[in-house]
Amino acid sequence: MINNFDDLKKFQPDINPEIKQVIEKYGVHITEYYANLVDWKNPNDALYKIVVPCMKELVDKKDELEDPIGDDSQIFKTLKTKMLIHRYPDRVLLLTTNKCASRCRYCFRKCKVFGNNDIFDEQEFKKSLEYIKNTKSISEVVLSGGDPFCMPREKFKQVFEFIISECLHIKGIRIHSRAFVYNPDIITDDLADFLNSMNKKLPIILMTHIVHAREVTDNLCNSLKKLDLIKVNQAPLLKGVNGTVEDLINLSWALVKAGVLPHYLHYLDKAKGTSYFRMSIDEARELVAGMWGHIGGHLIPKLILDLPDGQGKIALDKSFILSEDYSDGHSLTIKSTYSDKVSVYKEQK
Ligand code: SF4
Repeated sequence: MINNFDDLKKFQPDINPEIKQVIEKYGVHITEYYANLVDWKNPNDALYKIVVPCMKELVDKKDELEDPIGDDSQIFKTLKTKMLIHRYPDRVLLLTTNKCASRCRYCFRKCKVFGNNDIFDEQEFKKSLEYIKNTKSISEVVLSGGDPFCMPREKFKQVFEFIISECLHIKGIRIHSRAFVYNPDIITDDLADFLNSMNKKLPIILMTHIVHAREVTDNLCNSLKKLDLIKVNQAPLLKGVNGTVEDLINLSWALVKAGVLPHYLHYLDKAKGTSYFRMSIDEARELVAGMWGHIGGHLIPKLILDLPDGQGKIALDKSFILSEDYSDGHSLTIKSTYSDKVSVYKEQK
């Protein structure tokens, strides 16, 4: 396990000592399993870039934010608990924990996930579950974080048991997780049996977060195949990691091997210190367009943008884009998918 500069130096003896500043700011956490997938001799290796701290993380562009998808603007909107986000009318997002199995360098919640204080709080947790029970307009509960598989297991189970027994208006539960990419053994037989039995009572969707084809190992496939759940993937688009048509096609086929369908490709959120992974919106569009004709349409992810003002996701096709302007950089005027609000998104210069 790599948890500090000295651990990192064992794998990368010539690493720049100044990287300590990045570790101080955002930490480092790489599992032994994942460290064995990284090509340590090549700093341009995709998996290296995903987990190894980089000096460029210290560069904050002026439009980069601690809260790049406006979570905080939504958190207290309808309910007074910091563990629940009720953004869309029909869905809530339960922030189960701040803990993750690693520290992705591009993380959109890096200012929260990389902190020491866990968001989990027994009182807030109970309040959140009561809110879900009492709000009949909610159809889906999304478990996010951090990573729900890193939440204390008995609390994780309690969420399912409560929703299934007390919230008859809920039609499905979605789990957003990447922890098994860093440690496939986190999906124990006990966890798989539990989720499979819950899934017989209420549909569960596993939204995986797999970024690169090489993350799809035999271990990972075996772990995911224990889960009889619907599985779809979301991945951020990352320059130097999965930023070519070939990378994306390889990723889609690797996902199929693991029994997962590609679903979302996120245009990278403007989180602090992540500009080195970001490409332009038009480059991103061209990449996805470039997949057509080379792989079946069902294996091409939807390119989406999560709006910084908290108005949620939109597809980067024309559906919700009212206009685009290139006169001073690239800006898009976007209609919210669920309210009358209009947002203006300016691409990073
Ligand atoms: S798994 Fe998600 S929340 Fe956790 S560090 Fe990676 S990007 Fe951030």
